[in-house]
Amino acid sequence: MAEQLRYDGQVVVVTGAGGGLGKAYATFFASRGASVVVNDLGGSFKGEGNDSKAADVVVNEIKAAGGKAVANYNSVEDGDKIIETAIKAFGRIDILINNAGILRDVSFKNMKDVDWDLIMKVHVKGSYKCARAAWPHFRKQKFGRIINTASAAGLFGNFGQANYSAAKLAMVGFTETLAKEGAKYNIISNVIAPIAASRMTETIMPPDVLALMKPEWVVPLVAVLVHKNNTSESGSIFEVGGGHIAKLRWERSSGLLLKCDDSYTPGAILKKWDKVTDFSDPQYPSGPNDFLTLLEESQKLGPSEQ
Ligand code: NAD
Repeated sequence: MAEQLRYDGQVVVVTGAGGGLGKAYATFFASRGASVVVNDLGGSFKGEGNDSKAADVVVNEIKAAGGKAVANYNSVEDGDKIIETAIKAFGRIDILINNAGILRDVSFKNMKDVDWDLIMKVHVKGSYKCARAAWPHFRKQKFGRIINTASAAGLFGNFGQANYSAAKLAMVGFTETLAKEGAKYNIISNVIAPIAASRMTETIMPPDVLALMKPEWVVPLVAVLVHKNNTSESGSIFEVGGGHIAKLRWERSSGLLLKCDDSYTPGAILKKWDKVTDFSDPQYPSGPNDFLTLLEESQKLGPSEQ
């Protein structure tokens, strides 16, 4: 039988844990021994209003099942207050699940500043503020686990979601950098693009499809990634939902190298456009330095490669 992963003695902060995916994470970690901070502002899915009930209901559910949890009602924009709740209630923070989110879907033609700004505040600034406040604790104890939440909309784009797509792809770069900066301190960061039935998706997908996408089916991957036994999978992107789990990575064509002299013209690029877009011999870059190596090679090119 497979080992049951447990989180005894650890403190998990789950943002936006009043419903949907966040609730599924919070109840899971509490059932596996962790003390959980259930954060939720309790507003509408468009980011309007607030209500302490959302977090309270989940805390009561966890306690009724014998688990340990406290509520926090701050917006993730005040992430330091959420981490403070963890320190005050349980004395530490080990795992941060940046999950809170809203939607302000509208075609780009009709997008207003408020739609853009609110999405950036909740997803990008909110994830930053929580991680930034947890970071010194993680570094000091040489242990930390972070999950950030992206979306297929961010990875691939989606009609009516220019704001949300931009914010969700930001989670990828954010995670990749935290993974690099955290490596020395055993701080592991990964990013997921989940798909699950929740109030966010219930109006855009039919009930039979939603039935195949329970939030609980996203939880096991997150549980693996934040467990103390995961010491190597960091800075990675996963799509997860309905029992399917896949890792994504960047792919670069082997590309065109041109000598940077007078022959380097738009026409010279057009002439060899096929080389720019040829993925038959791909590369899988993992950092900016890969590109610098390519540039050095381009300087060595003789006339025959032009
Ligand atoms: P949900 O609406 O059920 O849950 C989001 C929770 O975040 C809500 O309880 C909400 O009150 C809370 N929240 C919103 N703004 C907040 C703020 N400023 N501070 C604190 N809490 C706040 O939606 P969900 O589907 O469970 O979404 C969870 C995350 O997964 C989101 O980041 C979402 O963008 C992402 N996501 C979901 C899907 C999906 O298929 N459900 C797909 C891609 C990405």
